[in-house]
Amino acid sequence: MEINGKTRLLGLLGDPVQHTLSPLIHNTLSDILGINEVYVPFHTHKEGLADAVKGAFELNILGMNATVPHKNEIMASLVDIDEGAAAIGAVNTLVRTANGYKGYNTDMMGLSRELESYGVELDSKRVIILGAGGAARAVAYMCMNKGADKVYILNRTIEKAQTIAEDMNGHFGRETMTAMRLGDYGQLLQENVDDKFVVFQSTSIGLAPNNEAVVIDDPHFYDRVSVGIDLIYNPFETKFMKLCRQAGALAYNGLRMLLYQGIIAYELWNDISISEDVADIVYDRLLQSIRE
Ligand code: NDP
Repeated sequence: MEINGKTRLLGLLGDPVQHTLSPLIHNTLSDILGINEVYVPFHTHKEGLADAVKGAFELNILGMNATVPHKNEIMASLVDIDEGAAAIGAVNTLVRTANGYKGYNTDMMGLSRELESYGVELDSKRVIILGAGGAARAVAYMCMNKGADKVYILNRTIEKAQTIAEDMNGHFGRETMTAMRLGDYGQLLQENVDDKFVVFQSTSIGLAPNNEAVVIDDPHFYDRVSVGIDLIYNPFETKFMKLCRQAGALAYNGLRMLLYQGIIAYELWNDISISEDVADIVYDRLLQSIRE
């Protein structure tokens, strides 16, 4: 694409940014859609984050993503925050408005669109979330928002799971979420002896190069899974997914979550709607890139 006087800039604020796949997603979208925009990574330290956001606005930058470790701190530099992002307590997308940027959490929206693409419904379902880090907060909000009947959040550090459960129960005004220690999953299965669960694997266990690691390695657990969604996409099939499939459950990875968080950000920046045909082209490029 030719860069000229009409080119608009998009970018990513993070530390580090070297491994990001976001430029691939957004520059592919600009190419396919013929939109004169360029997306670049900005390696930004936390001390300079507020200045970076201010400077980006002055430079007429159309929109940005924020990644680790800036997803919480960046909220202080925004003029408005979407309700979901505020409840999650993390922003990964900045959309330009007349007087500053508005923050969204397209990780949560992307995971939601991934589930829709696979036909996975959460309404009235029993859900288990493994992990209580940043990504788990987005998963928790989405499960509550989609009307799950019961959501159990299990984490090695129970306090982090408790905080998420309290925050989400408070925000939605119902006691749907329960926090438990990771090791107490047996008790949870006994308490719900007739139920199967939709399980989100949102710990970092199993991420390459530790491909054979898994958060729970007990076949009895997997017998009770109806659908397993691992947020990890590298490796493409995690040990968690293999154990789900061996037990007869459906299993999906997090690559479509990554894809759709980017697609939704691009839709917000440009006020457009992107077709599934275009999304599929970007998905193939992502797949190619993680396999290289
Ligand atoms: P965090 O660092 O915030 O959280 C990590 C989680 O993993 C915590 O719950 C932590 O438990 C748990 N954990 C780590 N090591 C162990 C261990 N040895 N035993 C038990 N639990 C452990 O990470 P994020 O929430 O940001 O990301 C989690 C995963 O989701 C990552 O693999 C990331 O790649 C993926 N992700 C995918 C996205 C996508 O678009 N597909 C988007 C965002 C994330 P504790 O609290 O006890 O430390």
